[in-house]
Amino acid sequence: MCPDPGTEGYAAELAARHTAPPAPEDVDWDALRAKAIEIMGKAYAPYSNFPVGVAGIVDDGRVVVGCNVENAAYGVGLCAECGMVSELHATGGGTLVAVSCVGGDGQPLMPCGRCRQLLWENGGPECLLLTPEGVLPMREVLPQAFGPDNLTAARHPA
Ligand SMILES: [Zn+2]
Repeated sequence: MCPDPGTEGYAAELAARHTAPPAPEDVDWDALRAKAIEIMGKAYAPYSNFPVGVAGIVDDGRVVVGCNVENAAYGVGLCAECGMVSELHATGGGTLVAVSCVGGDGQPLMPCGRCRQLLWENGGPECLLLTPEGVLPMREVLPQAFGPDNLTAARHPA
């Protein structure tokens, strides 16, 4: 059952899910990026030839992954982060605490705008992201983000 997105309980529940992340130095970024590179090899990107892989550590220690999946109808292609977030929920939920996204060269790749929103929802402001400029928390990757609190704060009065 989905909670009512307009209640404080829902926002509070989302906030409670966003547990403190590990310290950046406590994450094995090389191993996480290696996982992202491995899954990037599974990408289905025949139209752009731009494979992407992503791997994330969940607060319970699980690692979830995703790759981009394109479509002949270009607009319905799925970013790698979509697959990773689906695996997150399909395998028990939880909160992302550290994420590495790579392009075809295996180097850190910034998530697109929509996927930053996905990471925000599922990792919160303190989730760490390996970027081309180093490890950054999501609050710096998506400043002034729209999130669950906005649903209650800006709700139309009944
Ligand atoms: Zn994306």
